[in-house]
Amino acid sequence: EITPHGQLETGFYSKNHDIYSESRLTLMSDLREALQQNTTELYYQPKACLASGRIVGLEALIRWHHPERGAVSPAEFIPLAEETGVISQLTRWAVDRGAADLAHLLKNHPQLGVSINISARDLVSGELKGTIEQTLARHQVKADQLTLELTETAAMEDPALGLRALQTLADVGLRVSIDDFGSGYSSLSYLKRLPATELKLDQSLILDVDDSDSSKVIVQTAINMAHGLGYDVVAEGVENEETANLLKIMGCDKVQGYWLCRPLPLPELEAWLAEYHARFSSPCNTG
Ligand code: C2E
Ligand code: MG
Ligand code: MG
Ligand code: MG
Repeated sequence: EITPHGQLETGFYSKNHDIYSESRLTLMSDLREALQQNTTELYYQPKACLASGRIVGLEALIRWHHPERGAVSPAEFIPLAEETGVISQLTRWAVDRGAADLAHLLKNHPQLGVSINISARDLVSGELKGTIEQTLARHQVKADQLTLELTETAAMEDPALGLRALQTLADVGLRVSIDDFGSGYSSLSYLKRLPATELKLDQSLILDVDDSDSSKVIVQTAINMAHGLGYDVVAEGVENEETANLLKIMGCDKVQGYWLCRPLPLPELEAWLAEYHARFSSPCNTG
């Protein structure tokens, strides 16, 4: 028997759920088409070494301009793509576009590497390694010039399987980076077994590190722990010089964020790199 309350709730829920599902499905079929037609774009955000000021890498971030909806945020469509399985097509596209763009960039910037964000579903599907190897060969990019960024939660969804998949990727020379560290549920015992070379401190930890003593303690502890485990530490979401200087004092290795540069389309990124190299020896101007 259904109570009036239950009826109302069920009806309300399923009605909204339908509308939601339909627009979700439309969004996902539009995304598939955009990926196929290569109208999605990769923007690149540089990452600088705090000690030397050198640009050591670029993070590729997908951008999608929907013909009717305008710019759709990856924060909105990536979770949907993960749920619906569209993520495998998205990741194939991102690896291909990223490797092609890197091959082009390496002519003038041989020190650069590109980081691509991947999802838990990519890890467990088992096709990632083959796809990446073929793509790198096609664009003549070396495995150690490509970094795969994945969040801890992604790696932990199926720990045993995830770890094995990551290990096979690391074994062929690909770099692994732990993204958004400190943003959610962390398993420290799992962290020590990841075949990663880099750990990225989530921007939520970095945002108030200037004014909050407890944030300072957390960030300093995370840096020390990451170094103890052999990871390079990147701070994400560094928006001003004070934060960059503080992180440098704290021993953080690299920074990424609006202070250095916003994510840019390839031609603008190239112009930015040329100007950066002409003007600065260090992002902190401290040599
Ligand atoms: P993420 O990998 O942690 O990327 C960093 C996000 O922070 C990006 O948001 C970037 O634009 C933003 N950001 C960079 N510097 C600053 C800063 O100084 N301040 C602030 N407030 N934000 C900053 P975006 O591009 O919207 O991407 C959001 C998330 O979507 C990414 O987080 C990543 O998890 C996911 N994503 C983006 N592109 C891809 C992709 O190609 N594949 C997959 N699987 N996920 C992607
Ligand atoms: Mg990332
Ligand atoms: Mg991140
Ligand atoms: Mg994030």
